Amino acid sequence: MPVTMDTLVSLSKRRGFIFQSSEIYGGIGSCWDYGPLGVELKQNIKRIWWRDYIQRRPDMVGLDASIIMHPTVWKASGHVDNFTDPMVDCLECRHRFRADKVDEMPWVHYCAATKGNKFTIPAGEACSHCGERRTQCPDCGKGRLTAPRQFNLMFKTFMGPVEEDAALTYLRPETAQGIFVNFDNVAQSMRRKLPFGIGQIGKAFRNEITPGNFIFRTREFEQMEIEYFVNPRDTVEGKPADEYWHERWIADSLAWFQRYGLRAENLRLREHEKDELAHYAKRTADIEYYFPIGWSELMGIANRTDFDLKQHAKFSGKALTYFDEERKEHVVPYVIEPSAGVDRALLAFLADAYQEEEVRGEKRVVLRFHPELAPVKVAVLPLLKKREDIVRTAHTVRDTLARHWAVVYDDTAAIGRLYRRQDEVGTPYCVTVDVQTVGDSDKGESADGKVTIRDRDSMEQARVPIDALSTVFLDLLNGGAWSAVASKYPAAKA
Ligand SMILES: [Zn+2]
Ligand SMILES: [Zn+2]
Repeated sequence: MPVTMDTLVSLSKRRGFIFQSSEIYGGIGSCWDYGPLGVELKQNIKRIWWRDYIQRRPDMVGLDASIIMHPTVWKASGHVDNFTDPMVDCLECRHRFRADKVDEMPWVHYCAATKGNKFTIPAGEACSHCGERRTQCPDCGKGRLTAPRQFNLMFKTFMGPVEEDAALTYLRPETAQGIFVNFDNVAQSMRRKLPFGIGQIGKAFRNEITPGNFIFRTREFEQMEIEYFVNPRDTVEGKPADEYWHERWIADSLAWFQRYGLRAENLRLREHEKDELAHYAKRTADIEYYFPIGWSELMGIANRTDFDLKQHAKFSGKALTYFDEERKEHVVPYVIEPSAGVDRALLAFLADAYQEEEVRGEKRVVLRFHPELAPVKVAVLPLLKKREDIVRTAHTVRDTLARHWAVVYDDTAAIGRLYRRQDEVGTPYCVTVDVQTVGDSDKGESADGKVTIRDRDSMEQARVPIDALSTVFLDLLNGGAWSAVASKYPAAKA
């Protein structure tokens, strides 16, 4: 059974992944803070994305553009005029709703057929007493709603000390425009030939009217975006270059999410219908994930044609073209845009990793994160925290491993409990230092210099010399098989 959002929210808070923002003040709408483990998970997602798409590919470079840009950027991009939602206001309680969502919420009704009793009626249903349907405000049940008005979703702010229209600017609603306006800078300084791409990770802001579903839709979020520029006159494998690269990026993106743990059955592709396409887009495909709220967009991959570069050329007066050496002519590149949300990716990886299973009559909660994503790679645990030599050895092991990986030391509970805690945050391996490791001179037992490694997924153990730990983890954390370690370093019978 798929995990519920409530389970993920509560695990996230309990184990230090995600907290409600400003919680001691009662929180603030749809803002979330990433805790100690959440920030590690998020950094890992961004790091592998950057490594796989920017650093490992010869045809990609990176960028980090400013969040606040020249306000004309948003004129040119169409955001000032078109980035809007239709809104209605309640004249009584002043609550504001998206006009197209107002019938998707439960509504308050004072029923004339039952002496004006107050009911909350499920979304879209009629009152079972009087048969009436919603006409008033769904929240207070009394106020009339205004006609829909367009509301711009960009966050406004003022540059400089004077709050006047001339100083009005915006927090970027997407990172993409920072790439478009730097197209020529990057192409020239890096001497790029088409096709090539520019990738960027950064915060974006949208004043959504109905955010929600935990970190799925928030007003402040982080994007991982690529603009991949191609020569529309080129042909690759018998297809126009833009169509060929669009296909390639869809396939690459799907494969990427699967490589890091999302199950194929939880992923699907959805083509945008003609009437749903942005006016400049030639084709858009969403990768959808089966979130706890149902199938929803994980990322979009759009063919934006030459719209953005042409718009910025028009508004800035600067040519944003590419000189096609072969044809001896200037061309405006087409652009393919694979655009993913970091927070949504994190939610998908978290949901997909979550499993409950029964182990010896007890429930075990385990996050089966891919080792590259796991916030903590190894936990070092002393079997007896009263034995000073065991504790000292455990700290030494932790310090050595921490030079390469995120490693924690924990001695705050008994070993069984400590294992469960690490399972619940997805730590792939635990290392236990016990009496055999350090020996017991009182009983004349000599130290064996070995520690126990426990594998999260199989719960099997291996007995590995301390000297070999770094080599073993280098292999395991880079995709090496546990079975190879288990057979090379068999654990003594428990
Ligand atoms: Zn109202
Ligand atoms: Zn009624």
